[in-house]
Amino acid sequence: QTDHVLMDETAIRRALTRIAHEILERNKGFEDCILVGIRTRGIYLARRIADRIHEIEEATVLVGEVDVTKYRDDRTVSLETVGALGGVAEADQVQEELAVHNKKIILVDDVLYTGRTVRAAMDALIDLGRPQMIQLAVLVDRGHRELPIRPDYVGKNVPTSRMESIEVQLTESDETDQVLITGQ
Ligand code: 5GP
Ligand code: MG
Repeated sequence: QTDHVLMDETAIRRALTRIAHEILERNKGFEDCILVGIRTRGIYLARRIADRIHEIEEATVLVGEVDVTKYRDDRTVSLETVGALGGVAEADQVQEELAVHNKKIILVDDVLYTGRTVRAAMDALIDLGRPQMIQLAVLVDRGHRELPIRPDYVGKNVPTSRMESIEVQLTESDETDQVLITGQ
């Protein structure tokens, strides 16, 4: 049983800044785009990327969230706007159904594994309307896909065994920012 640090605070910061630039480059700006974080840590990461994009382009950045653990009977999809400079939390918050029609949705999650969570998130979004496109950003891709899903933006590719697991710690909910690998 060993714990090994894969990404420290600096590595996470750099990866998210790079992903913000890659999103802007691929989409030629942020027009018609919405970042959608998947439940807890994907939402924190989506907000951080939104802050970066706002700093780089001074664009209005829409951030939504989807909770796929509840997808079957009690889905939660909400939308908030990150407008002015400053903290995301103070920005105007609009809790409403995500207006996905004709939008480019960039799903954000902490770890990509089998792909089943992303598939459920895509189902939830597509139920709300017809997005123009869906892209995927993850902090860690640990492999072992069971569906034909691949990320467009990756913080770090980490080949793992099924016995291992990735621990993602983010200051929004944990003491520090770091990514560890645990197990044999
Ligand atoms: P999947 O649905 O692709 O099998 O798993 C991805 C979802 O489960 C993500 O929401 C992710 O948070 C969580 N997950 C799967 N494997 C790991 C892991 O090794 N570490 C962490 N932190 N989350 C994982
Ligand atoms: Mg998760």
